[in-house]
Amino acid sequence: MITVKSKGELKLMGDAGKLLAEVLDELEEYCRAGVTTNEIDRRADRLMRQRDCTPGFLGYNGFPKSLCISVNEEVVHGIPGSRVIKDGDLVSLDCGLVFKGLWADSGRTVMVGDVSPDARKLVEVTRRSLEAGIAQATPGNRVGDISAAVQKVVEAAGFSVVRNFVGHGIGRNMHEEPQVPNFGTPGTGPLLKPGYALAIEPMVNAGSHEVEMLPDRWTIITADGRLSAYFEHTVLITEEGPVVSTAA
Ligand code: MG
Ligand code: MG
Repeated sequence: MITVKSKGELKLMGDAGKLLAEVLDELEEYCRAGVTTNEIDRRADRLMRQRDCTPGFLGYNGFPKSLCISVNEEVVHGIPGSRVIKDGDLVSLDCGLVFKGLWADSGRTVMVGDVSPDARKLVEVTRRSLEAGIAQATPGNRVGDISAAVQKVVEAAGFSVVRNFVGHGIGRNMHEEPQVPNFGTPGTGPLLKPGYALAIEPMVNAGSHEVEMLPDRWTIITADGRLSAYFEHTVLITEEGPVVSTAA
């Protein structure tokens, strides 16, 4: 069942999204060569708590940190630790928080220092694919319209969309129905209605779409070792069209 949020819930989701955008903006600034992923995680935790938000990922299915950080060939769900960020890294930050019972989930790939032109293109295309998906998140469209729009942008650039992980409905829980794949067919899937909220999150690989899990049982990497990028927004579906709650 897909939950329809009340006006009050949508307002709170908007508030949660704004706070998360502030947190991510600060983390992006902080994400520099020489910083460890643990330090970024500690800052994320503090920034969320300072805003009366609960770090949503901490303890979620046993996840040990407040932020997912995935570097270069890591796709998603990387665990912060002693790794030092280097010039030229692609650092994907994925952050979720709870504010007054409502979730916001968002993330972005940060280009640290001098990244290669190929890496920059991957990041730009991933960002554009998210924008294309969001543009389809209007009442009367279907989930497949979002999925297909993302896939089209990605594949036109010669990159591939990760199949094993998808976006999701969001609200009082991080993961609600429906699933929002980043690949699919226009006009298929659940009909979108006002009051739905979706986390749309293209994960895009420079090479093959295939991924593997590291022995830590969390970190997902590209099977071919090539780069991956990711962007995510929480999007509210309204009569007036998509509202990005986590917009910076
Ligand atoms: Mg997320
Ligand atoms: Mg998500």
